[in-house]
Amino acid sequence: MKKTKIFIDFDGTLHDTAKLKEATFSAFEKFGFSRDIILAAYVAECADAKFTSAGFVERICAKRNDLIDRFEIIYDKIVSDSDDRVYPDVIPFLINLDRTKYEINLITLGDLSFQEKKVMASGIDKHFDNTYYTSDTPKWQYLTDLVLSEERFLFVDDRSDTVAEIAKHYPKAVALEINRSDEDKDDPARNRGDYTNTCISNIGELNNYLD
Ligand SMILES: [Mg+2]
Repeated sequence: MKKTKIFIDFDGTLHDTAKLKEATFSAFEKFGFSRDIILAAYVAECADAKFTSAGFVERICAKRNDLIDRFEIIYDKIVSDSDDRVYPDVIPFLINLDRTKYEINLITLGDLSFQEKKVMASGIDKHFDNTYYTSDTPKWQYLTDLVLSEERFLFVDDRSDTVAEIAKHYPKAVALEINRSDEDKDDPARNRGDYTNTCISNIGELNNYLD
């Protein structure tokens, strides 16, 4: 029997990226940088959807180049704790999934090396059949090599625009937007938009859409 494919996003879906952001902001504040300066650097670094820790650090340290190396070490240390930020519902869902019926794939968009660092540090990659990284190609387009246009597959992401694109290009897909929290709804790395996607609030709810 052919397995049904499931594609799951990483940041904000499996990994609490708002917590990562908060940990880095706090670390930089301890060096005397104001929240406003840190936030402005964060917004600028998010603008092209190619957020990297190095780029973020360089923006904050525009006038304090002497801190760049030190901050990069601090940032790497925070990233290395990514396993602590995996949402508690994720591992139970993954280990209980019927692997004879489903192929489970992780798909993440962003700077390849930064995304890979976070995913590997999270330790969840071992629960997935495949891990896909894309830096420039939007997810709907990336999937053209992995699924048929009329295939029924499941897709979960916290970005409204990404989910809407999947629904538009793959009419038989079950495209779900996950809303973990409204706390970071204004984060520039997310796109709430004016979409009417089907929403879930935790990864366990995905079970309601499995056949
Ligand atoms: Mg995401």
